[in-house]
Amino acid sequence: MALERTFSIIKPDATRRNLTGKVNALLEAGGLRIVAQKRLRLSTAQAEAFYGVHKDRPFFRSLVDFMTSGPIVAQVLEGENAVARNREIMGATNPANAAEGTIRKVFAESIEANSAHGSDSAENAAIEIAFFFSGIDIVG
Ligand code: ADP
Ligand code: MG
Repeated sequence: MALERTFSIIKPDATRRNLTGKVNALLEAGGLRIVAQKRLRLSTAQAEAFYGVHKDRPFFRSLVDFMTSGPIVAQVLEGENAVARNREIMGATNPANAAEGTIRKVFAESIEANSAHGSDSAENAAIEIAFFFSGIDIVG
């Protein structure tokens, strides 16, 4: 499989606990390269747009409140099979179900405050990367 890119977020629960470097160490140890990265604070409108696919889920309002509660670190990750690889490194959505050594198993506080986001398909990765970054920001 060719080199692929995916989109990642270090969520507010992790930035609050100053875990950016520790999360990045797991991404890099897992074979992914951070080819773009920026720390920002999402507005309510931006968080609603980013998570628009979940707008009818019962946890949507709480998720938007959480994602706007502090800084996030938005990232583009590059590597072989990057979309699937990043999902493996993150672990299951619910940290109780996440495999040992995954970001969510090691760091997540709850199913909502689960420290990391990762695109679920190459198609969504392209959409999510374009939501946060211009081509000129990404240095492979
Ligand atoms: P993933 O982030 O693993 O792709 P989803 O796309 O299903 O998971 O959900 C997006 C985010 O919404 C999760 O990462 C988590 O922060 C939050 N979330 C998902 N399910 C729940 C839930 N049952 N209760 C609260 N928050 C949830
Ligand atoms: Mg998802």
